[in-house]
Amino acid sequence: MRAPVSAAMAAEDFSAEAAAIVRSCVHCGFCNATCPTYQLSGDELEGPRGRIYLIKALLEDGSVGADTRLHLDHCLVCRNCETTCPSGVRYGRLVELVRPRVLRRAPPPWPSRLLRHALLNVVPYPRRFAPLLAMARWVRPLLPARLAAHLPPRRAPAPAPRAAPARHARRVLLLGGCAQPVLNPAIDAAAVRVFDALGIELVRVAGADCCGALAHHLGAEEVARAQARRVIDAWWPALDAGAEAVMVTASGCGVQLKEYTDLLRDDATYAERAARIAALARDPLELVDAGLLACRLEVSGVGAVAVQAPCSLQHGQRLGGRLEGLLRACGFELVPVAESHLCCGSAGSYALVHPDQASALRTRKLGHLMAARPQLVVTANIGCQTHLAQAAQVPVRHWLELVADCLPDA
Ligand code: SF4
Ligand code: SF4
Repeated sequence: MRAPVSAAMAAEDFSAEAAAIVRSCVHCGFCNATCPTYQLSGDELEGPRGRIYLIKALLEDGSVGADTRLHLDHCLVCRNCETTCPSGVRYGRLVELVRPRVLRRAPPPWPSRLLRHALLNVVPYPRRFAPLLAMARWVRPLLPARLAAHLPPRRAPAPAPRAAPARHARRVLLLGGCAQPVLNPAIDAAAVRVFDALGIELVRVAGADCCGALAHHLGAEEVARAQARRVIDAWWPALDAGAEAVMVTASGCGVQLKEYTDLLRDDATYAERAARIAALARDPLELVDAGLLACRLEVSGVGAVAVQAPCSLQHGQRLGGRLEGLLRACGFELVPVAESHLCCGSAGSYALVHPDQASALRTRKLGHLMAARPQLVVTANIGCQTHLAQAAQVPVRHWLELVADCLPDA
């Protein structure tokens, strides 16, 4: 695809990289077949190719209208199109470069701006998010039905460990997170137990909390960079002391860590450190020895499991099939799931900002997940878990919770 850049746009710091990505598209349209928003609407501008054309127009003449903002904003950044694209178009990077500028030049209506502002200033801060969530649950009967439907289900607190995890020679840094410890602290508690059983000590470091993924998703790049720098600073001494990797149990945050290089590439002080963090970032699935784990588990009585592979895991981190492979190797019974490549509609803050599209995608996803009547659904990302659990007929769990419950002393 040709992508001439106007003189005015050439002065913008993102335009050269964006134009190079646009040029790599051969406009074949294969990506539309796997794009969730195109599948919902059938509208060319709601698919990756149409969005790339809108970005091309922006580069050529600087044109940004409500249509450009609307269609780019509707993108889930699920990156299914990247997995499908035969030309290797870095679509996710393109949207990350362009969308924040478009949202600034053609802002959404004020209720949406207010919501985004609230999300940005509440969710990444557990001391704000936890009391506000508790209060919202308390007044739930008084809330409008549409708002009440988005309140995440209350979960049991993390079980107290039977014994303190042992100290091991192998140490991995575990990101503290922000929303996840409020929504479901049992996930990280389960991770500590599972990795302890595998001879790996998970170490949490004060200050390594929010990775910046939510801010990044909302287009607040400077906030995301500041949060990333804080994580890097907090982790640095522990990395120098010999930790072998950094890890987060939410696959959406895992993508963010692995792409710190892009986020901080123009920061002279942090670019190199960001690249080291990105190189050391691992999803839990990449650190688990399946054979060893299988020997430790007692899986009888669990029942049939449907796997929802988050987009951040299969398209963002390119770990498609890994979760299913691990669970099968450990002896769990998995049911077939159609359209496993399609997004469930969670996508960071998307479910709150675009509830209608998110709800339609969730209905479609749950239809496929429940088709073979599983006893539970497992996922690898707190956002997907929370979003699906609001409408699922069976428990939705993180795979680490399931595995930890199958350790013999559980
Ligand atoms: S599949 Fe790739 S090359 Fe083809 S239209 Fe989509 S982004 Fe462009
Ligand atoms: S990232 Fe997902 S929603 Fe956005 S264009 Fe690609 S496939 Fe469609």
